[in-house]
Amino acid sequence: MRSKSVVVLSQGEDIQLKDVILDEPKDNEILIKTVASGICHTDLAGRDYGMSPYPVALGHEGAGIVEKVGSSISTVQSGDHVVISFAYCGHCRNCRTGHPGLCYNLNELNFGGHEYDGSHRHHLEDGSHLSSFFGQSSLSEYIVAHENNVVKVDKSC
Ligand SMILES: [Zn+2]
Ligand SMILES: [Zn+2]
Repeated sequence: MRSKSVVVLSQGEDIQLKDVILDEPKDNEILIKTVASGICHTDLAGRDYGMSPYPVALGHEGAGIVEKVGSSISTVQSGDHVVISFAYCGHCRNCRTGHPGLCYNLNELNFGGHEYDGSHRHHLEDGSHLSSFFGQSSLSEYIVAHENNVVKVDKSC
């Protein structure tokens, strides 16, 4: 699918709003229509210092409404309101003992630019891939994120 996304192509370039091709959610991923996204200095560091390999689709503080879920997702369903946080593996010792913020794979999953399975879900129109940021790249019309990134919130909030 297509999504307008905030992208920086290489170090030193300005951000651009570009048409990006976003892969459909895999079995353990969720498609979210973005309602809001914060922006903070970490996005600027992603723009300026290559926290994830360039080119990169930025944004890491997303919130939105679930549009579609992969076949193995049971924690949220279409229409749920969600916020989107950082990526963690869920199986290392720190994740298993309730400390996903200390995930052994935190750097790779949030700043490696690729997804849990090593793939890239954002592509430019020429077919080349973009890095994701924090596994979400929330400065975009649509977000695909792994279920670990997604937290359901009360619709009345
Ligand atoms: Zn931030
Ligand atoms: Zn972990």
